[in-house]
Amino acid sequence: MQNTELFKKIIAGEIPCEKVYEDDHVFAFLDIAPVNPGHTLVVPKIWSEGLLDTDPQILAHVIQGVQKVAKAVKEATGASGINLHQNNGEIAGQKVFHLHFHVIPRHENDGYELWHGKPAEPSSLKEMGERLRKALG
Ligand code: AMP
Repeated sequence: MQNTELFKKIIAGEIPCEKVYEDDHVFAFLDIAPVNPGHTLVVPKIWSEGLLDTDPQILAHVIQGVQKVAKAVKEATGASGINLHQNNGEIAGQKVFHLHFHVIPRHENDGYELWHGKPAEPSSLKEMGERLRKALG
């Protein structure tokens, strides 16, 4: 079953969390299974499943919260860099179906691996560019 309720319950205080930030629109708390210490989740208080169904105005608040939290995570952990991860759909690794951004502090040799790109033919990039421009209208 898709998990849509967990973060609603955390925001409501029905499930405990280590809260680090809250404003009218946004709630942020430590991930219970951090990639690195300080790994924080930033979520909208109004539920949406993921990026694609989120009201753009809510998203604007969330990304401002993400920036605020990312600065604090960097300062508090002494990180050299920050990754943002945001998973949409089971195939993309989403387990909790309530929009959330992972704010992940990064350190030298922390062992965390990013994706591995596959070099593409120029013709396939061109064809995909056409499809995407069409989809964007
Ligand atoms: P995702 O795979 O993008 O849906 O990420 C869900 C994240 O939620 C994972 O990194 C989990 O470790 C985290 N998580 C699950 N349950 C809790 C919880 N009760 N408190 C804090 N983080 C949680």
